[in-house]
Amino acid sequence: MAKIIRQMKVAVFSTQPYDSEFFDRANHEGKHEFFYFQPSLNPDTCALGEGFEAICVFVNDQLNEDCLRRLAAKGLKMIALRCAGFNNVNLKVAEELGIKVARVPAYSPHAVAEHAVALILTLNRKTHKAYNRVREGNFSLVRLEGFDLYKKTVGVIGTGKIGRSFIDIMKGFGCRILAYDKYPVEGLEGVEYVELDTIYKESDIISLHCPLNEETQYLLNKEVFDKVKPGLMLINTSRGGLIDTQAAIHALKHKQLGYLGIDVYEQEEKLFFQDLSETIITDDLIARLMGFPNVLITAHQAFFTQNALTQIAETTLNNISAYEGNEPLVNEVKVA
Ligand code: NAD
Repeated sequence: MAKIIRQMKVAVFSTQPYDSEFFDRANHEGKHEFFYFQPSLNPDTCALGEGFEAICVFVNDQLNEDCLRRLAAKGLKMIALRCAGFNNVNLKVAEELGIKVARVPAYSPHAVAEHAVALILTLNRKTHKAYNRVREGNFSLVRLEGFDLYKKTVGVIGTGKIGRSFIDIMKGFGCRILAYDKYPVEGLEGVEYVELDTIYKESDIISLHCPLNEETQYLLNKEVFDKVKPGLMLINTSRGGLIDTQAAIHALKHKQLGYLGIDVYEQEEKLFFQDLSETIITDDLIARLMGFPNVLITAHQAFFTQNALTQIAETTLNNISAYEGNEPLVNEVKVA
């Protein structure tokens, strides 16, 4: 006999129109009941989650100790992350409170890898500038020159699912691939695993694909920028905290960094996923970055494809059902 799964009431934070659209589609059989809240989860909005057995959160929802304790006291049992990264959850406290945490470990690594390549191509060939120029009747090529990717050295930090998908694409351009990973993958063809210093010294382009944790916080800092190949193109689609932004600005000013393409930013939770076009931006670091002609910023959209949104909604739903049905929580996140 098929097991009956009790419908769970789930508070969904940081809801955007596309979240509810894809979740409602995945939940067409009404397995669970989703309550959509637009605000992100932080100490001021934590009360919205009180009384829910499960909450569904995204990259910039802050599940710190205080918030976890408050929600646990009001019945929280499960956190369903609708993303891969989990640096925003205090796992130790969650475990102590008996709250299960599950994530979506893989939802189209290709989406993120392809976006990293989009940043490279746009920065290099300046298609964003060409588009605007031509629309204004400016057909000049002055200052639009790029470089061939063929035979360039690309350093990849983190050779997990996204890093490997990125490597496959860059190999197609004829690039030489250097890689660093704390846990190298055996048998990766056409990839030379090297020390980080070699990546810094030899790469024309570096792309970050490792998680953010205590070890990788500010991995790219002033000391590193001082030793990179001058004019380096740095791409970050992983997590903002991997780069010391202040040091990156210094490196851009001194031309150590020739290009910076970021989909993530260390203080993004105050900015991203919102329309602030009529607001004064008080974050001086991002404002400075936005002023450089060789910096391209996208607002955490690397994951944003139909394939990934479908996968995210379905896996999140399955995680909630597995918890409710007392089945193995295959995507559980635990303290390392
Ligand atoms: P993954 O777990 O498959 O791969 C991560 C790799 O990093 C692993 O091979 C791991 O061994 C390696 N690693 C761990 N610690 C390291 C260290 N100190 N130095 C170097 N390498 C280290 O994860 P993934 O699916 O490839 O995702 C990578 C990152 O991409 C995630 O952590 C997440 O932060 C980010 N991400 C961003 C978006 C976006 O929309 N911008 C979407 C999904 C994921």
